[in-house]
Amino acid sequence: MSTESRLRIVWLYPDLLSTYGDRGNLLILARRAHLRGLTVEPSEVRSDQPVPVEADIYLLGGGEDGPQALAAQRLIADGGLRKAVERRAVVFAVCAGYQLMGASFFAKGQRCTGLELLDLSSDRGPSRAVGELAGEVDPDLGLPTLTGFENHGGRTHLGPDVRPLARVSVGVGNDGQTEGAWSGTVLGTYSHGPALSRNPALADLLLRWATGRQTLEPLDDTWSDRLRGERLTAVKGTT
Ligand code: GLN
Repeated sequence: MSTESRLRIVWLYPDLLSTYGDRGNLLILARRAHLRGLTVEPSEVRSDQPVPVEADIYLLGGGEDGPQALAAQRLIADGGLRKAVERRAVVFAVCAGYQLMGASFFAKGQRCTGLELLDLSSDRGPSRAVGELAGEVDPDLGLPTLTGFENHGGRTHLGPDVRPLARVSVGVGNDGQTEGAWSGTVLGTYSHGPALSRNPALADLLLRWATGRQTLEPLDDTWSDRLRGERLTAVKGTT
């Protein structure tokens, strides 16, 4: 975080990657940071604007194939997100945003080059993965069961330099076995929902990474616990 202790959160490319309501992740992070007394500076950076290098958390959402390919081209040409990751900024990327963190992905029948910020690549699956997604999170992250909603045609294959975010218990995620990936302070997932409203502990993990704090004051999570409970109960017995 900056010396003035402002938490700068950037929602990247709302003009291209905003199809699936993932902007809610920005609202959740800003709210949870504010309730801990942090001064939050949220901003939205469109794809025709330069990506600021000095922010603390960068968020990317899901998108359709065409806008996803354009987003990757523009992020690569801009170079700001790569520089931010080199200074250990936090990145939380969902679905299309997650796929374009890798080396390559498929969009509209063509292989497109990604940002290579995570050691993974995506191709097309035999069918579209649509529905509830759940899984047990990497124990090193210390989080409860992941819950989300997925909607993607791509399948993602992880290289040795990333770890899966979770082992799938419901749905497809990367490939029916694992879901999402993380390395350092870059974390991607197929979970919409938006993901951080269903997984507030994941929101707090990103806040801890960004602030360097070991612990954060607990919050009243009655409503998100209710939402989690509802969604996890709805898929019980489907495994
Ligand atoms: N276009 C990508 C796919 O279908 C990502 C979709 C999404 O972001 N929900 O795999």
